[in-house]
Amino acid sequence: TTRIVLASRPSGKPITANFRLEQETLRDLVEGEILLQILYLSLDPYMRGRMDDAKSYAAPVAIGGVMEGGTVARVVSSRNPAFKPGDIVLSHSGWQSHTISDGNGLRKLDPDAAPISTALGILGMPGFTAYAGLRNIGRPKAGETLVVAAASGAVGSAVGQIGKIFGARAVGIAGGPDKCRYLYEELGFDAAIDHRASDFQTQLASACPNGIDVYFENVGGHVWNAVFPLLNDFARIPICGLIAHYNDDAGASRDPDQLPAVMRTILRKSLTLRGFIQREFADQRPDFYREAEQWIAEGRLRYKEDIVDGIENAPEAFIGLLEGRNFGKLVVRIAP
Ligand code: NDP
Repeated sequence: TTRIVLASRPSGKPITANFRLEQETLRDLVEGEILLQILYLSLDPYMRGRMDDAKSYAAPVAIGGVMEGGTVARVVSSRNPAFKPGDIVLSHSGWQSHTISDGNGLRKLDPDAAPISTALGILGMPGFTAYAGLRNIGRPKAGETLVVAAASGAVGSAVGQIGKIFGARAVGIAGGPDKCRYLYEELGFDAAIDHRASDFQTQLASACPNGIDVYFENVGGHVWNAVFPLLNDFARIPICGLIAHYNDDAGASRDPDQLPAVMRTILRKSLTLRGFIQREFADQRPDFYREAEQWIAEGRLRYKEDIVDGIENAPEAFIGLLEGRNFGKLVVRIAP
């Protein structure tokens, strides 16, 4: 197997030297095991957290350990009666080309139902994150204004479209004119604002003449600062991600303390801010698959994949994800 391990922990932005490509020969299968060939590897922002040794909701990757990640794989050989060669499965096999599995935690995919890579994106964890955050926390009502950041990405693109299905007006925030054009022209967002524009804050305010009722937070930083003053009374804010801060150095100097002012506004406007990790709502996954498959079939839920070829290119692609170089759900194709 070819695999990518964590060579060292980054300080600030990850660099390619934090990763190392290794080759290893796999042992023979024992009874109950299957050999998987990884076809697609999902690259996701949470992986940045796994590179650090800090306390989080999940354990860090060990130095020398294989980088973690969701994958779509093909069964090559099997000594497990539940799987046969050729089966396609969703697994969590990490950044590698082949692996041995005991079959636990695998989900079989039907290649005729949807392109198999979508199990890592729109019909997978990111799509479900959008659905769960909106259904349980954002709860947009008809006519309300929903704003989402990182809006052209895996989670954000689904948030805006599902929000519209729920009846909201969707305003997307994204980096650069191409991503904004895509949101407005192809995904049907009601407005799309470039967070790199010098008058970003003013543009956002004009796109939200009635204020903001739901802000789906994926980013933090200067995007949060622009959104915060526009929040309406009783606004709901699912805190899904803070990608603008993932490369912050733990020891780096902080802005002057804004917490008292933020807390005052939370009180005065009766805001609901609620962090969540999607798997908290795992019991809603069957609802999600059913509804999302239907929305896709009806053309109401569209998606874009950014596919990079070759496992050796995963580190560079991942570094780019944290800088907005991806356009759509970032996936590495490891084998045809
Ligand atoms: P995306 O496909 O949206 O890719 C990341 C995007 O974030 C980039 O394309 C870029 O978009 C934007 N971005 C990166 N750095 C910055 C920055 N410094 N300032 C502003 N924008 C930035 O990723 P995902 O859809 O997979 O993830 C989106 C968010 O959702 C992340 O915060 C992630 O951690 C979170 N998440 C949370 C889950 C949960 O259970 N809570 C589950 C899955 C994801 P642009 O060019 O538009 O700026």
